[in-house]
Amino acid sequence: MRTQDLNQLFWFPGLINFNSSECYYLVVMKAILVVADGMADRPLKELGGRTPLEAAETPALDEVARLGVCGIMDVVSPGRPPGSDVANLALLGYDPHDCYRGRGALEALGVGLEVREGDVAFRGNFATVDESGIVLDRRAGRIDGRIFEEELADLVLSSHPEVEVEVRPAIEHRVAIVLRGEGLSWKVGGSDPHEEGAPVRRVEPLDGSPEARRTAEIMNELLKVLRDRLRASPINKRRVEKGLKPANAIIVRGAGTLPKVTPFESLYGVRGACVAVNALVRGVCRSVGLKLFNVPGGTGGVDTDTIAKAQVVEGILQEYDFIYLHVKGTDSASHDRDLEAKIRMIEKIDAMIRHLLDHLNMEETYIAVTADHTTSLREGEHKGDPVPLAITGPEVRRDQVDAYSERACALGGLNRIRGLDLMPILMNLLDKMPIYGS
Ligand SMILES: [Zn+2]
Repeated sequence: MRTQDLNQLFWFPGLINFNSSECYYLVVMKAILVVADGMADRPLKELGGRTPLEAAETPALDEVARLGVCGIMDVVSPGRPPGSDVANLALLGYDPHDCYRGRGALEALGVGLEVREGDVAFRGNFATVDESGIVLDRRAGRIDGRIFEEELADLVLSSHPEVEVEVRPAIEHRVAIVLRGEGLSWKVGGSDPHEEGAPVRRVEPLDGSPEARRTAEIMNELLKVLRDRLRASPINKRRVEKGLKPANAIIVRGAGTLPKVTPFESLYGVRGACVAVNALVRGVCRSVGLKLFNVPGGTGGVDTDTIAKAQVVEGILQEYDFIYLHVKGTDSASHDRDLEAKIRMIEKIDAMIRHLLDHLNMEETYIAVTADHTTSLREGEHKGDPVPLAITGPEVRRDQVDAYSERACALGGLNRIRGLDLMPILMNLLDKMPIYGS
């Protein structure tokens, strides 16, 4: 609620309250958190010591920095490279040290599977494995696993018929698996050897509990059933005839169960939505109760349509007070060590920000732009360097920073914060933070 000049009442029809001396009308402030996956980087020799963000043409990002307040952020903790799962939880205000319970359930939620308290989920790949169990191709030629609908249906384990099993193919060779039943544990390893030429591993318990032992047993049985079904599949027979790699096994990793969280809306009193294509990020957002939106033309890669993402945000901003807007391509380009693609992707994100600045009512909207972690283009890996952050909107304390980059933002008014500080800062700007003390 914001007090306004009487004249403005004619322009803003949402008048809801009078008292003797003042008029009020309802302005619901909104916040959009733009997360550019792995966008932050280190200075590169081939860019004359600049980072990709410093080298890219980013007039809109620079405008956010110039009109806003800037800083740098250790998304989880200084110097520690975070995975995308824990990083996105931290950005949403959930301390991964308290709530994180593996990646599998987040991936499963992200591909649309139901995951309940007590369920254990895995992520995995369709793979090509030889007769002696050696992994020949961890991705079975990046096969689209959705062709195996029949092979993945009605899975029953003869030694554990009481355990419900769901296997859902995701994009390309990826798959998510959910086990449901009493006495399961997520403290089990995976079967993926993470390299080709190595044997498929047995799933082993990671602690001494009977639940972990039982879950490992169940998983080993399930993987055998899947292997038998895939080997017998006519689809694979045809692939072999054509000289293609058969997807004759599923290898798994990342066992997990639902994170322990208070839903976003109960925590902050705002309705939140997520605009993302990437399964993991969608899963993280779904796990905390954000409503998921699809993006027409969104691919999760460098060819994604970033303007379509901005348009989805524009369309749902009436209904939601907080939107988590995620773009994956910067991270994919970094993992592929493709400098040109990373710079192009940063510029596509800049165009998305331009669209938001031009089409939203910036009198009522805060836009924060950051990354979930640094991904080093030189090494193609996540790093523990802090990420840049800029927040623009009606009541930020504008600082002297006039460009958006890792180094420019380090001179800003937010200084250096942790990922867990971001959501309270945004919610405070939305006047949603309760007082501490009295
Ligand atoms: Zn990430």
